[in-house]
Amino acid sequence: MNAAFPSVMRRLIEEFSRMPGIGSKSAQRLTFHILRSSHGNVERLLRSIRDVKDNVRSCRVCNNLSEKELCPVCSDTTRDRSKICVVEGPNGVISMEKSGVYRGLYHVLLGELSPIDGIGPDELKIKELLARVRAEKVKEVIVATNFTTEGETTALYLHEALKPFKLKVTRLAHGVPAGASLEYADVATLQRAFEERR
Ligand SMILES: [Zn+2]
Repeated sequence: MNAAFPSVMRRLIEEFSRMPGIGSKSAQRLTFHILRSSHGNVERLLRSIRDVKDNVRSCRVCNNLSEKELCPVCSDTTRDRSKICVVEGPNGVISMEKSGVYRGLYHVLLGELSPIDGIGPDELKIKELLARVRAEKVKEVIVATNFTTEGETTALYLHEALKPFKLKVTRLAHGVPAGASLEYADVATLQRAFEERR
């Protein structure tokens, strides 16, 4: 990095560079932006970062992002409690909610099976899903893991694990391109994938 920068600036550029999607050019631009910003704006940014870190946690029931013990979906009494849509991460919930086709509950696995990386069923929130299915009156589980190798492996595993329960297990249809994460699917594609689930 350019030694002409004061060392405190170099440090901030380095921090920004560690963020996803931020190259060194963008990191420099952000650092100059901070330098030009008012103290008030910088304070607000710092407070927002701390607030997110201190106040966002996992929902006690579905592991979705939440500021409270229960996330907005789980605490919404108008949602259809007979359906659980299983997604890899909180991004999946956001994508499904954006599509507007789904009014049931969610279960966030917080990852996908990847034997190569040593991620087995115990590393994911699968036990918790089965406990919910056992305890609640669930009629359908919609598997909406990603259409990647890990997502498909997870979907297969869930189909097997859910077999002993008397319920419908469906998988989002392949409108979403193979190899793709749910979060990159556009709203129309996701709507179709949901309607055509089987
Ligand atoms: Zn929840």
